[in-house]
Amino acid sequence: MSPVHADSFAELRRAMVEEQLRRRGIKDKRVLEAMTEVPRHLFVPPGQYDEAYDDRALPIGQGQTISQPYMVGLMVSLLDVQPEHKVLEVGAGSGYQAAVLSRLAESVCAVELVPQLAERAARILADLHYDNVRIMTGDGTVGCAEEAPFDRIIVAAAAPEIPEPLTEQLAEGGVIVAPVGNRLVQTVVRAEKRGSKLNTTRSIDCVFVPLRGRHGWND
Ligand code: SAH
Repeated sequence: MSPVHADSFAELRRAMVEEQLRRRGIKDKRVLEAMTEVPRHLFVPPGQYDEAYDDRALPIGQGQTISQPYMVGLMVSLLDVQPEHKVLEVGAGSGYQAAVLSRLAESVCAVELVPQLAERAARILADLHYDNVRIMTGDGTVGCAEEAPFDRIIVAAAAPEIPEPLTEQLAEGGVIVAPVGNRLVQTVVRAEKRGSKLNTTRSIDCVFVPLRGRHGWND
């Protein structure tokens, strides 16, 4: 890619952060910096680079989508990731949100059900030398027992409820953010683990592709 192109994408990215995130109330400085840094266009299908910074979700193949920038900014801000944290993402998709998380955390384990998507995400992240992210192929609703506990867990597909194994694999005091609801509309939910209890707060309504797998939608 020519330097001229690289510069224009950086410009589009700054505008995205200013207009779609900061102006709509996303304040977390580290999240804004990470989203200014991560080249979102590389995660959308080639040929659609010019649309990568638009204010919407985009198709990434296999019937799946890369989330709208605002939704990534909001959910990752709610997650409150600190530099020493170990993070689990369920639904890696394009790998974009995992890339953003990798700028904020010690390490990220991102699980994707669709092998073709997982392979592409892993390749892009490796090309960028984002070496603290590991993409795994499989059903993320069962979590990732060999890497647990996690300080933070984020679910990037619509869940009927927070999958039990994820709550179990969350560290004490840890936070999980997930879109919870029915298949048509969900609410972004943030839950903090205190002993055997989850203290839950609700944020905005949203629309995600369905979470499949053992603790997702199976029809
Ligand atoms: N975070 C992604 C967008 C996610 S779209 C990004 O930044 O691009 C939701 C993804 O969840 C889809 O790719 C879908 O294949 C995946 N998914 C659905 N059910 C899953 C499951 N049980 N385990 C892992 N991934 C799942």
